[in-house]
Amino acid sequence: MCGIFAVTDNKNASKLAYVGLFTLQHRGQESAGMAADSSGRILYYSAMGLVSEVFSNEVLANLKGRSVIGHIRYSTAGASNLKNAQPLFFNTCLGPLAVAHNGNLTNAGRLRAQLQKAGAIFQTTTDSEIIIHLMARYRGRSLEETLAKNLRRLEGSYSFLFMTPGRVIGARDPNGFRPLVLGRLGASHILSSETCAIDVVGGKTAREIAPGELVIIEKGKVRFKRFAKPGNFTRCIFETVYFARPDAEIAGRTVQSARYEIGSMLAREMAYMKADLVSGVPDSGAAYALGFSRESGLAYQAVFMRNHYTGRSFMQPDQALREFTARLKLAPIKDLIRGKSIILIDDSLVRGTTSRKIIGSLKKAGAKKVYMAIASPAVISPCYYGIDTPTKEELIANNLSIDEIRRFIGADGLYYLSLESLIKACGNGRDRCFCTACFTGNYPAKIKSAM
Ligand code: AMP
Repeated sequence: MCGIFAVTDNKNASKLAYVGLFTLQHRGQESAGMAADSSGRILYYSAMGLVSEVFSNEVLANLKGRSVIGHIRYSTAGASNLKNAQPLFFNTCLGPLAVAHNGNLTNAGRLRAQLQKAGAIFQTTTDSEIIIHLMARYRGRSLEETLAKNLRRLEGSYSFLFMTPGRVIGARDPNGFRPLVLGRLGASHILSSETCAIDVVGGKTAREIAPGELVIIEKGKVRFKRFAKPGNFTRCIFETVYFARPDAEIAGRTVQSARYEIGSMLAREMAYMKADLVSGVPDSGAAYALGFSRESGLAYQAVFMRNHYTGRSFMQPDQALREFTARLKLAPIKDLIRGKSIILIDDSLVRGTTSRKIIGSLKKAGAKKVYMAIASPAVISPCYYGIDTPTKEELIANNLSIDEIRRFIGADGLYYLSLESLIKACGNGRDRCFCTACFTGNYPAKIKSAM
């Protein structure tokens, strides 16, 4: 769960990268950083915090350079600390090299142990550093060949940005788990985790980077090169369900329109259900609930006030704060709730703690019935490809039956969307290439060493 963004050949590169990263902030809130190509040198800066906290005007002005790569982090491998903030920078035998990574390498433990045995000294605990050590050790005739050769040693998920003086290179793993798109802005090129960041800086999306493909941007020109045979294209379906921004386009449709469609599918699957209104858990739940309302004719009503200003300090898991953090973020609007039967939609149910709290607050506000509808199937398996999920033992759907989960969350009914409907909606009815491992336990790429 990270975001990456690059802009090349632009006099305002660091400012545009700021806007790009700011737009991708939902993908990670722990740390942010940029590396700038400054006439043969690479300047870099990263710090803990949100994009707006990390980059002052002064910091941006110091990141002089016409090309910039940037990163925002939510750690799924390695501790959350400044050393692990990206882009990572190294002076290597290949020259200065910066790297930014979104994804999770499932053979990181094995590769790290092998490299350390051979003398490598790691500076960080992130899996992202491994590729740099591999490149320094196993070289080809050119940088691209070196990259291609070493990317093939990696297992798991990755969208990478690399920077060397004069070059920005993007790479997407052979399954295409994590997103990476190319855009244009005048003579500049952009690489971004999501299309919405390209839109916000005023650019145009050109195309997705294909699974197993390198994109090389050099001297204002773009080239593509395959470094691996594409595996089965299995992009992460959870990007549409939960993670990506509503205005991002995935598989040819915006996340928002896919969520409306998912809501409609839920309504069709739950046609027997009677209630006074349908609502969603903010923010993503609203799109699902609107789709449900459109299909079923049931009135849509927002029953929560979402406070967008609860800073990170309120998200610390401190026992004294925990009690009211849920209410602080989501406050029920009482007179819309009192005496009503409500179908409440959320994107997913993982441990069940969110639903339990929210249903509790609706009941306390006087709701007559709360039927919980989940816009995806039950999460039964952890993600090893970059989405933060708890262990198998902590996933509620592994331990309890649907009726037991219903009782645990305090709902009067519990419904999960079928996988078939979810895939249909996410892929616009045509594209069926998704990783659905969290719902099925079928992992499309090796995970043995990640378990
Ligand atoms: P839980 O409370 O454990 O059942 O988690 C489900 C809730 O967390 C839903 O409201 C989701 O919107 C949200 N959610 C789902 N996946 C994640 C994730 N990987 N990280 C943070 N929140 C998540």
